[in-house]
Amino acid sequence: MEKININDLSFEELENFIDELGEKKFHAKQIFKWIHREKVLSFDDMTDISKNLREKLKERAYILELKVIECQKSKKDGTMKFLIELPDQNAIESVLMKYHHGNTICVSTQVGCRMGCKFCASTKEGFVRSLYASEIEGQLLTVERYTGEKISNIVYMGIGEPLDNYDNVVKSIRLINYPLGLNIGARHISISTCGLVPNIYRLAQENIQCTLSISLHATTDEKRRQTMPIANKYTIKEILDACKEYIRITGRRISFEYALINGQNDSREDAIALAKLLRDMIAHVNLIPVNEIKNGVYKKATENHIQEFMDTLNSMGVVTTVRRELGSDIDAACGQLRKKYIDKTDEFAQKKYIKIDE
Ligand code: SF4
Repeated sequence: MEKININDLSFEELENFIDELGEKKFHAKQIFKWIHREKVLSFDDMTDISKNLREKLKERAYILELKVIECQKSKKDGTMKFLIELPDQNAIESVLMKYHHGNTICVSTQVGCRMGCKFCASTKEGFVRSLYASEIEGQLLTVERYTGEKISNIVYMGIGEPLDNYDNVVKSIRLINYPLGLNIGARHISISTCGLVPNIYRLAQENIQCTLSISLHATTDEKRRQTMPIANKYTIKEILDACKEYIRITGRRISFEYALINGQNDSREDAIALAKLLRDMIAHVNLIPVNEIKNGVYKKATENHIQEFMDTLNSMGVVTTVRRELGSDIDAACGQLRKKYIDKTDEFAQKKYIKIDE
């Protein structure tokens, strides 16, 4: 019988599994704590459960272990970038960032991405597969184990489109949220999407208080289509309507990510158009000086343009900040470390890395 990945079970699923093993359901509490809070990697470390139950668990299940292949640390600000190996030897990235309000991790949700945004390294090698909930939560467990640091905030902004892996992403939030586990409140979790409209409506109904972050990057559909293929499917109006519904149901403010690309979307007219789009919403704009990727055609907006863009939005009543550039001395832009790894590892590229959708 194939062993099950015990990390992937929700608390209720774990209770049912323990019941199936012929044991009392209350053991699920102890086991959930050992796995998700204590981060143990062996059933033998679960010292408050009987040897008999530990043997049963070993026979039927395994504990997920993700391996750190590489870790780069910024000398400037301590940002740490991890290349992490999954059980099937695909690789993903996670980034640990230090802010005054605590440690924030940026997690991946897929191996590769099928959204094809032109300014993004994560999509250059196509899409391989979606991550399981345990592989998303496992990035936190792995990085906490590796660094000994406590993580208090999570942003779903790494490799992949979170709402394209909807069920696993929602399940991972519930795992991270669970009081017996990492117990990180949903208000400390931010989900980023390029705008998969139907799943924004679905997320609004989940009764999860996480922050929604929309990667907008343009103020007209025509301009957006030039860099984001998803704009061929959903218009800005459709996205904003879904956002308004999200705000109405959850009461949460929406964050709009806007990567400033030199000469593409960084003019004063763009700033005015953006302020007009968002004026009747509880919104916050996060300006991102776009990361220049190797062989990418897009260049970062100038400091002056960034400042002017922010001032214009703020003066029109839209709260705007510029994202601090962390880890500028390491491969911190999403997907770059993995891309380098694929490029240099022939064996990985030819045998292990299997593209299933281009
Ligand atoms: S920006 Fe996000 S959605 Fe777009 S290709 Fe990159 S990972 Fe995918």
